[in-house]
Amino acid sequence: MLNLVLFGPPGSGKGTQAAYLVDKYQLKHISTGDLLREEKAKGSELGLEAKRYMDAGKLVPDEVVIGMIGGVLDNNVGQVKGFIFDGFPRTVAQAEALDTLLTQKGTSITQLLALQVSEEELVKRILNRGLTSGRADDTNEETIRQRVSEYNNKTSLVAGHYDEQCKLTNIAGEGSIEEITTALCAAIDSQVA
Ligand code: ADP
Repeated sequence: MLNLVLFGPPGSGKGTQAAYLVDKYQLKHISTGDLLREEKAKGSELGLEAKRYMDAGKLVPDEVVIGMIGGVLDNNVGQVKGFIFDGFPRTVAQAEALDTLLTQKGTSITQLLALQVSEEELVKRILNRGLTSGRADDTNEETIRQRVSEYNNKTSLVAGHYDEQCKLTNIAGEGSIEEITTALCAAIDSQVA
């Protein structure tokens, strides 16, 4: 399997790039943000719990997210060529849980692609996205900075976890969408070769 983690701070372009990579490499896209927003929209118990954290720009507790991912993997391993994880893992505990789940299924993460974007550019992009995304967490600058701070304090450590496994590739995340897609594909193709 080809199992990629598309990694980077909020607003770094993970969702945009995932759409291209899913098509090109025929992968199943797993975005925990999208899954959590679906639960929120359904008004499920999980969604109601997640909402409190999401609206405040805080990470949803690990056990909630890990439980949700376990179910998705169970339903897809054996049916797909690989996964592209977007917005997950966001803590070292989530990364360790993901590694264990994949090992149990006889597979593993192939590569973590980390998009590098400056904080000022992130805030600008997310405020702009907030004009049309309908996401409460995209409209308030304080919430956006809180999300970047969660990334810096907790999520950035996930890159180190995969660097130890020699699976980290850093990619410049500023430039045109096409330039960034080209850089991502070159990195994936050289890893697979
Ligand atoms: P962005 O990357 O722009 O912040 P996401 O859709 O990935 O957007 O995430 C939105 C929110 O959902 C996060 O701020 C967080 O509250 C929650 N969330 C998403 N994925 C995770 C995760 N893996 N662990 C904890 N919380 C998560």
